[in-house]
Amino acid sequence: MNLVFLGPPGAGKGTIASEAKSTFDIPHISTGDLFRSNIKGGTELGKQVQAILASGDLVPDSVTIAMVEQRLGEADAQKGFILDGFPRTIAQADALEGMRKVDAVINFVLDREQIVARLSGRRVCKSTGRTYHVLYNPPKVEGIDDETGEALIQREDDKPEAILNRLNVYEAQTEPLIAYYRAKNLLIDIDASPSPEVVLASLVKALGK
Ligand code: AMP
Repeated sequence: MNLVFLGPPGAGKGTIASEAKSTFDIPHISTGDLFRSNIKGGTELGKQVQAILASGDLVPDSVTIAMVEQRLGEADAQKGFILDGFPRTIAQADALEGMRKVDAVINFVLDREQIVARLSGRRVCKSTGRTYHVLYNPPKVEGIDDETGEALIQREDDKPEAILNRLNVYEAQTEPLIAYYRAKNLLIDIDASPSPEVVLASLVKALGK
């Protein structure tokens, strides 16, 4: 099954995808995670995109599309995939059409107030990528990762200025994809406001699995 997870930053796409990948036995491909691991590894691509990610702007389409095309060519993605955070522009969606057939696009629906609350409280373990929320999903010990014992950090782009920029970028560039995929009869709206367990259950139901 080839799935696209669409929705504003902070709607929980990554959280649900990391659960859904085992439910559906397909890889979770997050373009944000791919960029961040390139930044961490100090690759050429990482150097090219570091400042863009910190500001909350979008990486140019050509760079992003080439990275996704390569990732979708890998062996594990032949049985299906969950694309999380891609496409984010109409040009990316058109490019994806030329790569693989999409079976369904899940639109995670969440209002602006909740988006800001989720993003500003998000904390991350830098080495594993595991995420927490100061209120909704706190670690056992404040500020410390449950597994590795490392100090949790706040992503640069989860700081207030970058959050506002990311929301504006989402509304201007990504929201038009809702109409794009609705017109193709691929869109499934999911209320992203309940707990991850409830959201995952509605996803499984909506996909008839
Ligand atoms: P995310 O983890 O999905 O919130 O993505 C973090 C950042 O990575 C975004 O704010 C962009 O700077 C960049 N990014 C991720 N996916 C894309 C994409 N499909 N197109 C352009 N930039 C992206």
